[in-house]
Formats: sequence, structure tokens, C-alpha cells
Amino acid sequence: LLQLFRPLDMLGFVYRSVRQGLVDMGEMFKLMDTSVEVTDAPGAPALAVSEARITFENVVFQYDDGRTILHGLSFDVPAGSSVAIVGPSGAGKSTIARLLFRFYDPQGGRILIDGQDIAGVTQESLRAAIGIVPQDSVLFNESVGYNIAYGAGSAGDEVTETELRRAAEDAAILPFIESLPQGFDTMVGERGLKLSGGEKQRVAIARTLIKDPPILLLDEATSALDSRTEQDILSTLKRVSQRRTTIAIAHRLSTIADADKILVLDHGRLAEEGRHTELLERGGLYAEMWARQAAERDDEEDPRAQAAE
Ligand code: ATP
Repeated sequence: LLQLFRPLDMLGFVYRSVRQGLVDMGEMFKLMDTSVEVTDAPGAPALAVSEARITFENVVFQYDDGRTILHGLSFDVPAGSSVAIVGPSGAGKSTIARLLFRFYDPQGGRILIDGQDIAGVTQESLRAAIGIVPQDSVLFNESVGYNIAYGAGSAGDEVTETELRRAAEDAAILPFIESLPQGFDTMVGERGLKLSGGEKQRVAIARTLIKDPPILLLDEATSALDSRTEQDILSTLKRVSQRRTTIAIAHRLSTIADADKILVLDHGRLAEEGRHTELLERGGLYAEMWARQAAERDDEEDPRAQAAE
């Protein structure tokens, strides 16, 4: 999973840089390190999102090496609900996210948003509908405002101050930004203000919210934070995902226990599906993963307890 969404971040960055004539094309594709084989069908219409329901229908997928990664995967993400995807490493979680964003097309089956096959709509409209909160966002040596407005993609230049403030407020970072000497114009990064992990994460959330996407894709967004900050960020994410269809890709099950539905993926197949308590009662793969992670959490707590003594 890891750096999955870096390329996406790069995409917007590259777009801007190209407009500004700063990056050469070879460098650009090296940076993106991702497939450019997907193209729009001639005359493809824009995706028309009404309620933002997502459906995977018998999706079969292989990367170039021909190994089948998803074996006829079907699931439904009801409009406005939050669905978490969990499963062992290599199960195919990130692959699902890449397909939804249409970095690749499946070899079989269909992926639908509000009944429209995403392979038949423009990539631009598809990507405009999906906001991604990655695990580790890249911030630029630019102002806080630029770093947030950049999420609006090609419309970034036209972001109004009201929109900036709203996104920052929704991401619960507005009071912090207002406390800075130059507010939204304060420079961040190596040449400016050093942000904490939590603040960076909030800027990333604001960057995602600036385009007001009907669909949110959360990529274990809270991995590198202390538990207090993590809880704060999780409650922010919960709030912003309320009006949106949300898919969360999670490694730590404790962060997704209240999802409307949990999909347990194993070797590219749906092993289990249900709510947290149902899956625990079932005593299958999810229950096993939960027990293992609970034991790990206990182990982690031990040395701290010892150190405190
Ligand atoms: P993790 O929890 O470790 O991030 P994951 O469930 O997200 O794993 P994926 O990243 O979707 O798993 O990978 C699923 C399978 O696809 C793995 O076997 C992986 O090696 C393979 N895979 C991923 N990306 C590529 C690629 N670009 N080319 C070929 N195989 C790939």
C-alpha cells in the first residue's frame, strides 16, 4: 500500500509544474512511476454523480506480469456509507483503490459509480469525484494556502478565500492557521514553518476537502501519529465522511471498528463481509486478525509500562 497515492499527489504537482514549465517529461514519468496506459474513450461523457454509490461487479484484475490479483471481486458501497477494506498484506486492498481511481482497467467485470461504468467516463471527471486522504502527504515549500488550494487540481488557481477557510475549518486546522503570523500566506516546509504530523495530516485533509468530493478514499490516514492526535484526526475524518461515500483502506483494525461495513479481503477474494461485531462473532479471518492486533497492542504497552516504573 505504502506510497500508493504519492503518484496521485505527483500528478497534480506535475500538471502545475508542466504548466509552469518546470519539469521535463522524462522526469515527470519517473516521478509518477505509474501506468499511463488508461485513456478516455472517444467522446466519453463526464461522470454524473448523483448519490455516489460504488459497485464492483465480478472484477478480475492482473498487473502486467499476468498473475491474477482480483478473482471476480464483487461488493457494494451504498451511497453515503463508510466501508473499510482490510486483509493480509498483498490481499489486493491498494489494487482496489487504484482501480477505482482508474490507474488501470480490469480485465473482467465492471466498476460502477451510480450505475456508470468508470471505464466509460472521462478520467478527469472520475478523479474530480474522489478525494484521497493518503497516509503520508507531500507538502510543498509554499504557503499553507497554496498547499490546500492545490487539492482543487486545475481549478486550484481559482479557489476563493471563503473556500479555503471552509476546507480548513472542516479539517479542524483553521484556528491554527489563523494563529500563524501570516495566516494562509505563511510558508511551510523546509524553508518555512515546520508542521507536526497531525497538522500536516490536517492540511492534507483540507487539501482533499477543497474539491468537496462526493467520494472519499482514506488510506490508513493516521499511521504515524501518537494515539491522542490519531483519535482527534479520526473524529475529524468521521465528521467529514458523514455526507460522503467513504472507502477506508486499513491496516489497523482498531481504526475502522465502527464502519458501516467491513470487507475482509484474502488473496483477491472477499473472505468475509459485515460489521465489526458480526465478524468477531463469526470467528474467521477478521476475528483472527483482531486477536493478533490486540495482542500486539498489549505487547507494545508493556515496555511503556516498564519504562514508567
Ligand atoms: P499491503 O497491505 O501490503 O499494502 P495490499 O492488500 O494493499 O497489501 P496490493 O498492493 O493491492 O495489496 O497488492 C496485491 C498483489 O498485487 C500483491 O501480490 C502485489 O505484489 C501485487 N502488485 C501490486 N502492485 C503491482 C504491480 N505494479 N505490478 C505487479 N504486481 C503488483
